[in-house]
Amino acid sequence: MLSSRFKYTKGSPAAKAWGILRSLKIQDFPIDPRCIAELLGIVIWERELPDNCDGCLMRVGSASGILINARIRSETRRKFTIAHEIGHYLLENDTDGDQRNTVFEKPSEYGTKENLEKKAYLQSETRANQFAVELLMPTPIFLVDSTSLPLIGLPAINTLASQYGTSFTSTGIHYTRLSNQACAIVFSEAGIIRYFAYSNKFRKNKDCYLVNGQPIPPKALASRFNNEVCIDDEMDEIPLEYWCQPNHSAGKNDKIIEHSRRIPNTKQVITFLHIPN
Ligand SMILES: [Zn+2]
Repeated sequence: MLSSRFKYTKGSPAAKAWGILRSLKIQDFPIDPRCIAELLGIVIWERELPDNCDGCLMRVGSASGILINARIRSETRRKFTIAHEIGHYLLENDTDGDQRNTVFEKPSEYGTKENLEKKAYLQSETRANQFAVELLMPTPIFLVDSTSLPLIGLPAINTLASQYGTSFTSTGIHYTRLSNQACAIVFSEAGIIRYFAYSNKFRKNKDCYLVNGQPIPPKALASRFNNEVCIDDEMDEIPLEYWCQPNHSAGKNDKIIEHSRRIPNTKQVITFLHIPN
């Protein structure tokens, strides 16, 4: 069951995603978005597109198709792209059936930016991403699975990613945001924090904060990955102030568990931060 902190309004991306799963009677995991596209009458093509374009939704009259970049090697990324485009199709269903409408993922590269306000474009992308997450990892069932695991953090995310057929990144973000623990997941590259997500409990803790674009704090375990190439996996309980500068004196004695792991063959590191109860 959903806890009271997850309330989705009618017409929201989550409600749309759960609604389509329910109406198509899809219950088996991992979800196959290709199958959903087929049931919705959406054709999928693959063509080689520029590297900065994962795919696009095309509408010509009443017909719709999804064009996927054949250069994408990762099956989880392909699946997420198809789910994202189905989101565009269902959330922005064009009422003008005669209008030729192609939604490319990078409008600045394809000259359609003039037709879309940047804010509206970003909102549309956020909603399509939310739809994709909820189509592939519906929160009500994902919560049951994630809370029943005996493990937390990166091992749990690994298990859930296999179960749902989703990428480690998207699974990790979904897992962390839904967690009832004070935790955060940080994606860094070449020693710089590129992106992070956190739980409500982490956000509400005044001593916990992270900043995008900042170097990884020098005492954090993740900083070791830059200097020692042989390190792939590090976990320890460390002072909270290694990652955050606590706002009040009581927080200076707080501890945080850091688990950092290198993404193989890259300079990227995933870090799971967790304040023990
Ligand atoms: Zn999009």
